[in-house]
Amino acid sequence: MPDLIDRFQRKHTYLRISVTDRCNLRCLYCMPEEGMVFMEQHKLLSYSQIIEVAATAAKFGIRKFRITGGEPLVRPGLEELIAGLSALSGVEDISLTTNGLLLASQAEKLKQAGLKRVNISLDTMDAARFQFIARRGNLDKVWEGIEAAVQAGLHPIKLNCVLLKGVNEDEIGRFLKLSMEQPLHIRFIEYMPIGHDDDGWRKHYLPLSRVLEEAAKLGFPLEQEEGPVGSGPSENWRIAGGKGSFGLIHPISEHFCKSCNRLRLTADGHIKPCLYWVDELNVKPALGSSEAMEQIFQKAMEIKPENHEMAALLAGDKQSHVPTERRMSQIGG
Ligand code: SAM
Ligand code: SF4
Repeated sequence: MPDLIDRFQRKHTYLRISVTDRCNLRCLYCMPEEGMVFMEQHKLLSYSQIIEVAATAAKFGIRKFRITGGEPLVRPGLEELIAGLSALSGVEDISLTTNGLLLASQAEKLKQAGLKRVNISLDTMDAARFQFIARRGNLDKVWEGIEAAVQAGLHPIKLNCVLLKGVNEDEIGRFLKLSMEQPLHIRFIEYMPIGHDDDGWRKHYLPLSRVLEEAAKLGFPLEQEEGPVGSGPSENWRIAGGKGSFGLIHPISEHFCKSCNRLRLTADGHIKPCLYWVDELNVKPALGSSEAMEQIFQKAMEIKPENHEMAALLAGDKQSHVPTERRMSQIGG
């Protein structure tokens, strides 16, 4: 089977799999606080259907799978999916992105099933602010989840921190210190305007140049890391002598589409060639036919755009195409 190479010569080796759009939080940059309409359960792909899609992806040279959501840990029996993905030939890496709330009770069994590593979202270390950003849940549970991931031997552990102007930008120094004191990788992420959340985004978008400015202000000596940690588009740094490291994911201020190697599968069975645009391909009619499934992946390569245009939105420029109406929780990040 040939590699998945698109019109811009980008080779695709990574599939993000969303297993649900439901979540036990309502993070202000991801979902509205009230009124979210969730996918009907019968419209979600079953685990065996996801494995069927993933098997075709693996034949085309996809080597890394990330399970995401919504909150993936609210869907029961995730270890069944992880075990099925692990059994596919050629698969090198299975990871999970989670808000961590339910991780303490599941980390060990997910690791046993074949999960290699985990990204846990942590936007603040302040309990009251956690309530403001996530609107539900409990910060202590997230720390318990992080601790359980360490105990289970999931490695590396990355903490995803979406920086929000006027909300958590004063915690940059605290997160940098955490990366110095603990063997954790902190990923600072720029707030992206997904699913017509333009007002919230304009209010809270912060370019990640702020992180390096803050490190300089605090006198932290920085060393740039050679290659990326894992498979992400992250620019990676370390405070000299620190136990951990940190990364900058800046899709807007310095977009990284040139090296995009990923596809996304939504919980309701659509391949999204790009996070940002409306285009997607329904895999459901192709279930049961490996030939039809292969055509979907080939089609994704044909229609994948050169880049997103989030920076054009910020500048107020006209966009060349139609952005998706899905919220981030309906795509998987
Ligand atoms: N519920 C899990 C979690 O929060 O980690 C997984 C799904 S969540 C959609 C995946 C990642 O997307 C999280 O790290 C979250 O912080 C990030 N995210 C959500 N909305 C975002 C936005 N508008 N801009 C940037 N990152 C966002
Ligand atoms: Fe839920 Fe993750 Fe979205 Fe927060 S970012 S609302 S935890 S899906």
